[in-house]
Amino acid sequence: MPKRKNISSLHMPHNKHTAASLPERIPVPSEVVLPMNMHSGQPAEPVVKAGDYARVGQLVAREEGRFSSPVHATVSGTVAEIGPIPTADGGETLAIRIESDQKMARDPSLKPPVFQDSQGFLQAVRDSGLVGLGGAAFPTWAKLNEMCNQQYTVDTVLVNGAECEPYITSDHRMMVDHADLVVQGVEYLRQGMEPYLKNARFLICIEKNKPDAIAKMKEALAGKPYAAVHELESIYPQGAKQVTLYNATGRVAIAGKRFPYFHAVIINVSSLAKMAEYLSTGTPLVERIVTVDGPAVKTPKNLIAPIGTRISELLKHVELSGEPGKIVIGGPMNGDAVYSAESPMVKVANAVLVFDKKTSVLPAASPCIHCGRCVEKCPININVWAVEGALRHKDEGRRASHLIDTGVRQCVDCGSCNYVCPAHRPLLGWNQEAKRWLKKYAAAQEQQKGGSR
Ligand code: SF4
Ligand code: SF4
Repeated sequence: MPKRKNISSLHMPHNKHTAASLPERIPVPSEVVLPMNMHSGQPAEPVVKAGDYARVGQLVAREEGRFSSPVHATVSGTVAEIGPIPTADGGETLAIRIESDQKMARDPSLKPPVFQDSQGFLQAVRDSGLVGLGGAAFPTWAKLNEMCNQQYTVDTVLVNGAECEPYITSDHRMMVDHADLVVQGVEYLRQGMEPYLKNARFLICIEKNKPDAIAKMKEALAGKPYAAVHELESIYPQGAKQVTLYNATGRVAIAGKRFPYFHAVIINVSSLAKMAEYLSTGTPLVERIVTVDGPAVKTPKNLIAPIGTRISELLKHVELSGEPGKIVIGGPMNGDAVYSAESPMVKVANAVLVFDKKTSVLPAASPCIHCGRCVEKCPININVWAVEGALRHKDEGRRASHLIDTGVRQCVDCGSCNYVCPAHRPLLGWNQEAKRWLKKYAAAQEQQKGGSR
């Protein structure tokens, strides 16, 4: 096991204005827009066509490829259109638009899945359409499947309820309002993956700034010696999986190794609760809690809305202080700005944050002053300041080796480097560009090798 090291962190305003806000279910929206790329991995493939009638929970797009996740109708109504919509990264993806008939008619074929063994359990989780609801979007079945590698024994399941990003309280409310579902999720997981989790302990990892969630979870876990609440300091990025692993177990994640190598598995607390809901009712992932907050929101709230609800629809339920300047899905540190308020609320949308014209303008970047703060505050010890220079290298081979040397492939997109840079350099954007380019470069190299064989 790698040696212990210190993990850098930040203290920042929590702005958890909605911590006590009981989620309100919004009225059925007039339509939903379901993008095919709501998970990391290959986009899903539509199995319906315009004009079809869809019921809540009905499969409308099947998983496609090795890492993918199905998509289900989240309202009942008519499939009005299947076509491209813009994505946050400037690209586009296919989306299914369903016009609601307001009936919320449930697919009559939905029933709790029956499974006999771990493969059956994983197939059920796969069918549920669940992904990492804390923002990772990695298909949940694929993450759980990693523990089937007989080479490693998993002794710890980390249930991630840290929710360290400012503003967001959707996981918090899940633990306070549905602690029973989280515990049910623990039981299902123990049962479903029993051969791999025989003696595993479950640690529900919660930051200390959520005392009510800690109390509720402790109460719900009473009498379960294999599960406990693990209290964590309220620091950023406590919820990044490498940071949670270290702070909960003292184990240091190393590049290129999946979690079971560290004898651990990590799952977001809302994903676990939604998994329990699916296994007990047969209802796949069709709705979620979303925090609506930000500097331009006068009356922040937690809402429950069908996946695919347009952001403009969510904003009808809060009061804004003026015209939005920027809208972000996720937290202010590593969320994604959307192209317009007509963008849909996707599976990982734990928050929708609205910034006004003033707070959405970033200060102009100036040259690097080599202060080293970005490296000092990076939880993964990446040589952040060097990424941009490496990225601009003309020779592709040298660009790749220089980028790899910075360690940027391990970047967890926490945005801490951006936050502390006194020169306001857009470091996170460069990191993301570097990772995308390295992936493409590696794929092209692989293809070349294949072609020359
Ligand atoms: S380089 Fe990546 S992991 Fe490190 S601080 Fe920046 S965003 Fe976070
Ligand atoms: S924090 Fe900003 S100014 Fe300081 S070394 Fe990093 S990139 Fe340069």
